[in-house]
Order: sequence, then structure tokens, then C-alpha cells
Amino acid sequence: MTMKRNSDLQPIGSVIAGLKWHDEDRFCQLHGSYRARIVYVAGKKVSDGFCPKCYQLQQEALAAEQAAAKARLDAEKERKRMEEALGRACIPADFRGKSFDSFIADTPELEQALSLAKRFVSGWDKAREGGYGLYFYGNPGTGKSHLAVSIIKALLPGVSALYTRVPDMIGYIRAMWHHDSQMSSYDAVRRYVELDLLVLDELGVQAGSANEQTLLFEVIDARLSENRPTIFLSNLKPTDLVPVIGDRLVDRIKGKCVAQPFTGVSHRKPLTAEDVFGEAA
Ligand SMILES: [Zn+2]
Repeated sequence: MTMKRNSDLQPIGSVIAGLKWHDEDRFCQLHGSYRARIVYVAGKKVSDGFCPKCYQLQQEALAAEQAAAKARLDAEKERKRMEEALGRACIPADFRGKSFDSFIADTPELEQALSLAKRFVSGWDKAREGGYGLYFYGNPGTGKSHLAVSIIKALLPGVSALYTRVPDMIGYIRAMWHHDSQMSSYDAVRRYVELDLLVLDELGVQAGSANEQTLLFEVIDARLSENRPTIFLSNLKPTDLVPVIGDRLVDRIKGKCVAQPFTGVSHRKPLTAEDVFGEAA
């Protein structure tokens, strides 16, 4: 096989009818002298020649603009994905903006709590494998929910997570039970059991009926048995939970969850008339 010599190639002018060009010396205000190629097709000028450096800069600017537009689109997609994940996780509206960064750890205890929460996130693979969780206890408004929500947000959207108050969860499961729906209470319980991470707030607030206690017991027992990490939020110390969920379950929670006290005073600012109605006239 012989190589095609240049002279064998068809001149471009015979491929595109009427294509002609000539070169001339030009001067760019920015880049100095250059050789411009002025191109005609069928007697009509289609390119006036251009400074190669200007052309290159123009192409780079265009590429940068396209990359920025794509980055904006990706960021918007990511924001929507996160917003949907937050919605699925039922993060209360008040807490959607909260994160580790906005947590004020102004006491050694809160510093310890923040550090524990961050370690839970960085050690998520281990927590998931062993079914290890956390037990935050203390007065309302001391930062338990803030940290629990921050943990969920840090793990989203890679995990299925849910934040729920115990009374809401029981209410939901009971509604499925009474309701003539496709879903049985067993399915409703499984919905809470099969989440990668469940945050159960207000554990121990109200004992509820025997039936409600059984449902709560079922969810917690199944999650512990199946090694699913749970973060419990309560105003009660683990030992004070015995009358609510029984000593056996309390023992198992203690065996699976790192307990963290929140003994500080509430960070919640008392609501004033100005907050609600604006300045007085
Ligand atoms: Zn130029």
C-alpha cells in the first residue's frame, strides 16, 4: 500500500463550489501583526480573517461561560435534590436552615455534643454496620434537635433518614391501622424500621395507651435487633425511661447508643409581641 501524496488530495476549492481565499497582513490592536485569511464562497465573503489570539480568547471565554452555566445548573439540581431529601426526611421548617456551622457550642458540654455528632457523621459506615446510635437527653431548647437535624443533613441525600416526634409516628401508624387503607400497621411499622437513620424526638414525653406503647416498642425493638442506627431525643435520662418503655429496651438502647447530656438552659429566645406583630405603632 502506498501513502497518498499531498498532490493526490483534492483541493478544497473543488469540494465546496466557489471556495476561494487570500491571505493578507493585518494588525491587531491587542496582539500585533498577524496573517489573516479572507475566505469567499461563490464570490461572497464568509470570513474576514481574524486575529488568532483574539479568536482563542473568545473561544476560552465562551467555554468558561458554558462551564459556569453548567455549574449553575448542577448547583440548582443539587439544591432541588437536597430540598426533596429534606422534605422526605420531614425536617421541621424551623430546622431546615440549621447545620453544624450554625450550632453555638458555648459550653464544654455542648462542645462535646457537637464533636460527638460530627464523629457520628464521619463514622457513619461503622454506625450503620453495627447499628450504633445516639441518645441525646436534656431540657427542650438546648440544641438536641439542632444537632440531630444537622446529622441528617450532613448524611443526606446518600441515606434514607427521617426525623419524627414519637407522638407523630404513633399517630401515623395508628391511622394506618384504623384506616381502610392498603397499608397495614405492620407495613407502617416497617416504614420506620427500614430507614437507614431514624431520629425519634420526644421519647418519653407521654406514655400513651398500652397499644401506643406496644407500637413504640415494636419500632425501637426492630431497629435495635436489625442494627439500624437511631438517634433518640428525650428530656429523660436513659434510666428514667424504664417506666415508659421497660428496662429490657432501656438496657438495649444503652448498649447501642452513646448517651450525651444537654443540661444547659434553653437557647430558644422567648417570643415577644414584636416578633409576631412587629413594632408597636
Ligand atoms: Zn488580537
